[in-house]
Amino acid sequence: MLFCLAMTTDSYDLRVCVLASGSSGNCIYVESPTTAILLDAGLSARQTLLRLNKAGLNPDKLRAICISHEHSDHSTGVARLHKKYGWELYANSDTARAVDRAGLLSWNLFRSGSPFAIGDIDILPFSLPHDAYDPVGFVLRRGNARIGVATDLGIPTQLARQQLRGCQLVVLEANHDEMLLQSSPRPWALKQRIRSHQGHLSNMAAAEMLVDIAGDTLQKVFLAHLSRECNDLGLALRTVRRHLAEAGLDHIHVLPTHPDRHSEFAHC
Ligand SMILES: [Zn+2]
Ligand SMILES: [Zn+2]
Repeated sequence: MLFCLAMTTDSYDLRVCVLASGSSGNCIYVESPTTAILLDAGLSARQTLLRLNKAGLNPDKLRAICISHEHSDHSTGVARLHKKYGWELYANSDTARAVDRAGLLSWNLFRSGSPFAIGDIDILPFSLPHDAYDPVGFVLRRGNARIGVATDLGIPTQLARQQLRGCQLVVLEANHDEMLLQSSPRPWALKQRIRSHQGHLSNMAAAEMLVDIAGDTLQKVFLAHLSRECNDLGLALRTVRRHLAEAGLDHIHVLPTHPDRHSEFAHC
């Protein structure tokens, strides 16, 4: 069994730091010993560099940005980061078209469901149910290390479960608490959108999905994309930890992510 540890000095195949998470911007840093990439670039270019700096990460190591879908909280910084630092852009064609309507950027196009590699990191984009053109999650592999990322999904589909099974580390959305969403002053249509099959996962749905995919490989989970108005970090962590403990999975570390600062590091 492989263990993902929150230490930065040991050797690792893959190392992760969530630079930002939530509707104000999403950006995840993943590196192997030789290659670094970003998953999404939903912060401004300036903020992205500041966060990298604060996390003690060297931007010169970065090679590429893989974009999950076109929503601005995942793509705001893409054009500027690409132009300023030359980081290559990866997306499927519908997402690339939606992010770059004028066709000014140069893209490496992938197909949802078809693996590709950036340096020594193998990447499999897989389809997620969300209200975007062709949204994807990612499974990243190097050696035996396997990391899954799914940050915007309305329901935990069979395909998503299948892809996240066997990962040692997962970044999974825990967007809202059902009760807080229900009692929030948000317009009814927006509540319906969030709850829909194309919307976002609740804390409970994330917890149930984690129990289902854990197997004996899952060691560490980052809870991502928490709603500011309809969730609470303590509540999300408690809900997921309790659910895992009830299923005999209390060895799994459940870690927070933040909209305004980077997470801790995890590696496997
Ligand atoms: Zn989205
Ligand atoms: Zn989002």
